[in-house]
Amino acid sequence: MDDIIIIGAGTAGLTAAIYGQRAGLSCRIFERYAPGGQIVNSPTIENYPGMYGVSGYDYSMALFDQAQKCGAAVEFAEVTGIDFSGENKKVITTAGDFEAKAVIIANGAARRKIGCKGEEEFEGRGVSYCATCDGNFFRGKTVAVVGGGESAFEEAEYLAKICDKVYLIHRRDVFTAAKTAVDSLVRNKNVTILKNSVIEEIKGSSAVSSIVLKNRANQSTAEIPLSAVFVAIGLSPDNGIYKDAVKLDEQGYFDAAEDCKTGVEGVFVAGDTRKKQLRQLVTAASDGAAAATAAADYIRKKFGK
Ligand code: NAP
Repeated sequence: MDDIIIIGAGTAGLTAAIYGQRAGLSCRIFERYAPGGQIVNSPTIENYPGMYGVSGYDYSMALFDQAQKCGAAVEFAEVTGIDFSGENKKVITTAGDFEAKAVIIANGAARRKIGCKGEEEFEGRGVSYCATCDGNFFRGKTVAVVGGGESAFEEAEYLAKICDKVYLIHRRDVFTAAKTAVDSLVRNKNVTILKNSVIEEIKGSSAVSSIVLKNRANQSTAEIPLSAVFVAIGLSPDNGIYKDAVKLDEQGYFDAAEDCKTGVEGVFVAGDTRKKQLRQLVTAASDGAAAATAAADYIRKKFGK
């Protein structure tokens, strides 16, 4: 049995593994996709101390390597259930059932969906949630990016380099992205920003061929021909399997404070999955350190290790 099971190999989970291993505890990380979490798709990191200009992929691999060099074990498997009722915490995964003295949940958050007609139908056929993954399929084509945050501007900037035309569609007239990102995007001649606009429908036959856009300021609608819609409207928590065991807030994030304690003995949370003001790499790393330190303290007191 391991000392700590860590759910998620993003910045929070991998940092927790580094701190846990360095505290002399055995850590086993579960990751269903690839290590790195959301940042793996970012072309460059500019706001993590000491990491200016490093790609999200390179950063993720370096962090993953660091956690493994510290001795953390990794399982590429999905966590499908939990039982936190006993002294030993049980985690049910697609690779079998595992137990540990403590669990750190660092499962991040899932991509939010628009919820408009056609979005689900055309997912994978012109509706995408990752420009760096799927952008190349639409090289030389007209595409749209939905959102007004950092992710939307990053995706639009990336697509502007390879697509013929890019629409950035945002539901309000102010952006949450940094001014530098906005200034940089508008310098691309092939980018058109459509504010106060929402997609009512994504249309097509075998693949996306157009969108119906509504202007919220004057209620007018227009159909725009294009080949792809990249949705970058933020994240929402995906904590359904924990809801009966651990307290969530009204939005579904774990209701835990900066100490990363959930209120359930031996269960801690770290990163974007926790209720918090600022979801950034640096706050995810901070949570990982805090959660692992709290877990180590718990294990020392409870099990005398
Ligand atoms: P975000 O900052 O939460 O922005 C989400 C955007 O989508 C907002 O413009 C929001 O509009 C819009 N939106 C939300 N729900 C919508 C809906 N149903 N329909 C249409 N639009 C909708 O999300 P994010 O850009 O993914 O960023 C997530 C976090 O990661 C942030 O903390 C961000 O700073 C960070 N991040 C950092 C970097 C970097 O530093 N390199 C890169 C990517 C992400 P409203 O403004 O109207 O709510």
